[in-house]
Amino acid sequence: MGQAVGLYLHIPFCQKKCDYCDFYSVPGGDERAKQTYTKALAAHLTETAPALTRHTVDTVYFGGGTPPVLGLGPLHTLMDIIRRRFPLAAGAEITLEANPGVVDDKLLKKLRREGFNRLSLGVQSLEDDTLALLGRVHNARQAQSAFEGARAAGFDNIGVDLLYGLPGQTVEEWRATLREIVAWGPEHISCYGLKLEEGTPLWRDRADYAFPDDDAQADQYLAAVSILEENGYLHYEISNFARPGRVSRHNLKYWTLAPYIGLGPSACSDFGGRRWSYVRDLEAYVGGMLGDGDVLHEMEELPPEARAAEYLMLRLRTADGVSGNEYVRLYKGNFEPVERVLEARAAHGFARSEGNRWRLTPKGFLVSNRIIADVLEARTEGP
Ligand code: SF4
Repeated sequence: MGQAVGLYLHIPFCQKKCDYCDFYSVPGGDERAKQTYTKALAAHLTETAPALTRHTVDTVYFGGGTPPVLGLGPLHTLMDIIRRRFPLAAGAEITLEANPGVVDDKLLKKLRREGFNRLSLGVQSLEDDTLALLGRVHNARQAQSAFEGARAAGFDNIGVDLLYGLPGQTVEEWRATLREIVAWGPEHISCYGLKLEEGTPLWRDRADYAFPDDDAQADQYLAAVSILEENGYLHYEISNFARPGRVSRHNLKYWTLAPYIGLGPSACSDFGGRRWSYVRDLEAYVGGMLGDGDVLHEMEELPPEARAAEYLMLRLRTADGVSGNEYVRLYKGNFEPVERVLEARAAHGFARSEGNRWRLTPKGFLVSNRIIADVLEARTEGP
């Protein structure tokens, strides 16, 4: 069996654009645009398949955007190419991102029959006023009914995405949301702090809203860690929690520097020692793929030095943390200056060492950007 690789397909269509969203997606999209995009992505998949004949594709992720908006027929066309042309592993994790406002029971059954075996549901909040303010196309009742519909359709691996740090959100409201979501029983829960992305409607109107301050957001984060851990979820990455054995195998590839190939506008790849991404423009991507034009946005070869820095940066965001032995073995680097920073942080409860590994504590995750910056600086300073 060849080296395992993840495959990501970017579906850049949403019913409408949410007011906080900075992902590359376009609202609406007529049927013709979706059909043309499917043709372009199908061509890209077909062209990519020969590069993976010596590998095994063990995770496939349809993200976006809102993939179900593309339609069942196009999703079938893409899945069919993946099944026929790619070395898909038995038991591969095949995830579909979905927005509760665009799926119903019938569609969920068809998606499950199509071969998707993991659903990532963007619930975000259970407060209808907040969902409306964020520009989401669903309410809390629809979110619950989409979750129940997915279960009834046979999805036994469902992830729920939530946001905290929302306008007007109190810690108590957030706790109540978490408890309710836990009662639904998803296998995976992601909790992301709302980021105000420049240029979005929410950023433009930010003065009109009362956002929780940094201390309140920190309390919300720590509340999530304790409620989810108490309920049997493993805190395996800074923002991600899963029942044992139900981590997102695909997303874990990004955090552990495992190889993956992403197709579609704005999609990134890390494969064969190179990192590249495609243009963040639907028309340019489609025109390039169907007209033999250039669709590459940027490409770089990552020297071992850069990989070593990424190892520290990404692994310190995971519960698995970093190991001096691993660092020396993989990158021939000097771990001592890194360890000195982590020891100093451990003295204040921000990091801890277990066996040969160093991990950040939940309190450390809260200030992970600062700690990681210190670690990277110490690394370049040497002994
Ligand atoms: S559904 Fe997701 S990708 Fe689409 S606009 Fe909303 S947040 Fe962005």
